[in-house]
Amino acid sequence: MEDENSYDYVFKLVVVGDSGVGKTNLMSRFVHDTFDFASKSTIGLDLTIKNMVVKNKRVRAQIWDTAGQERYRSITKRYYRGSVGALLVYDITKRESFATISRWLNELKINEAHPDSIIMLIGNKSDLDSKRKVSQQEAMDYAESNGLMFMETSALESINVEKAFESLIVNIFDKIS
Ligand code: GDP
Repeated sequence: MEDENSYDYVFKLVVVGDSGVGKTNLMSRFVHDTFDFASKSTIGLDLTIKNMVVKNKRVRAQIWDTAGQERYRSITKRYYRGSVGALLVYDITKRESFATISRWLNELKINEAHPDSIIMLIGNKSDLDSKRKVSQQEAMDYAESNGLMFMETSALESINVEKAFESLIVNIFDKIS
């Protein structure tokens, strides 16, 4: 039987963005295919593992969640250390969460250990299109001028979540392997 502890690559991914944008639900949708309406209250660091096969290699994605630390705007360096990819998440219905993206990007740039780290900008809650405050075009332009990948997702309706994580992981794989 295949040993689930054996892998060819391990990628550390971090998920950042303002509190309430849907980071935890994006992760749980990707890793466990679940959605949780109740917000978590733990403070600390959480990480989840997702094993995948990319181009015949076993890749272990180690996905870190801030577990609420972002509320205090003081995420430890330990959170970012060694990460090779990041999901930079805003809520398409909250202008403010898009406005803070540049601050998160800066934080990633200051703290990230890997110079080739790949960052994907995520506009989450695409199911709430009628309440949209940030256009796709604006986000796309921002992503392009900052060298980021970009996708809109809905953790609630399970739209583009797998695609977002997987294309980030494949891009990291192509860059690193
Ligand atoms: P975090 O603080 O960034 O980790 O955000 P959470 O994952 O805890 O989600 C914050 C709130 O947004 C919760 O009430 C979720 O139910 C809700 N939420 C998360 N993702 C979505 C989504 O894609 N669509 C909608 N409509 N609500 C979402």
